[in-house]
Amino acid sequence: MTHPPAPTFVLGIDLGGTKSAAVVGTTDGAVLARVAGPTPAREGPGAILPFLVGLARAAQDMAPGPLAGVGVSAGAPADARTGRVFEAPNLPGWGHGEGVPLADLLSSELDGLPVRVENDADATALAEHRFGAGRGTRDMAFLTVGTGIGAGLIAGGRLHRGARGAGGEVGHLAVEPGGRACACGLRGCLEAYASGPSVARIAGEHGFLGEATGRAVVEAARAGDPAARAALLQAAQMLARGLATLSMLLNPERIVLGTLAVHASDLLLPPLRAALRDLTWPRIHDGLTVVPAALGDRAQDLAALCAWLAGEEETTLSSVAPA
Ligand SMILES: [Zn+2]
Repeated sequence: MTHPPAPTFVLGIDLGGTKSAAVVGTTDGAVLARVAGPTPAREGPGAILPFLVGLARAAQDMAPGPLAGVGVSAGAPADARTGRVFEAPNLPGWGHGEGVPLADLLSSELDGLPVRVENDADATALAEHRFGAGRGTRDMAFLTVGTGIGAGLIAGGRLHRGARGAGGEVGHLAVEPGGRACACGLRGCLEAYASGPSVARIAGEHGFLGEATGRAVVEAARAGDPAARAALLQAAQMLARGLATLSMLLNPERIVLGTLAVHASDLLLPPLRAALRDLTWPRIHDGLTVVPAALGDRAQDLAALCAWLAGEEETTLSSVAPA
């Protein structure tokens, strides 16, 4: 059987609250062209679509050949099945209520090119799975430990999205029922203990006098500051509680931790791994490795490309599966 060669170029759009980019890449993850700019979030919701269309068209003009489709990695809640994006704190007013049908809107502005959207944590999980620290696994979880804790789960080789696109919110597992207030409105969430701002807040409560950022706490802990060390140790223990629950559910082969966990892997991972052993069955933890993310600065571009590439594979799989 012979098929006409499929277009091998993909347009990826990374939509962030402060900056965004559009890239042209290949299915192998090579980025051939990139256009970026500050997201006009403060100009109101009406400014975002024209801005994204402008970025996308500029990148499209640099593509060496026809594009197969467009992937959007959105720093906002997103439902891949409907192509809708919902309001996020960084993009106020945009997608309030029923959401913005971003996939359809972009497609009609880009000559009918098919568009797929994913939440950025899910898209980064896909990117780490395909190109980074999760390569070769079928069951893995990715957590970005940054300003918030976003997560994406790969189960049986596919992204687990859940019924409304909100599956795998590991950052909001209650690791301390009734505990600290979380930005999401619940209490005791993992994010309230282990995100960068949470680590900084807790270090401050222990008497840390340095800059109130996760990075500053990590540097101080390396230099031996006891308050900084105490805050990071608590973050590691709370991460272990969240990851234990996740592991007993998913039985992952690998858990990939990004952002602060990459910068602080020497401080966070040893106590986290030790605590995780005490909270899971040997059958679960003996087959599990917890590793720092591997994609670094390339993560966002590759996440945008993977928002398209993963959906492409799912379509192919479901079209050959028996009804
Ligand atoms: Zn929460």
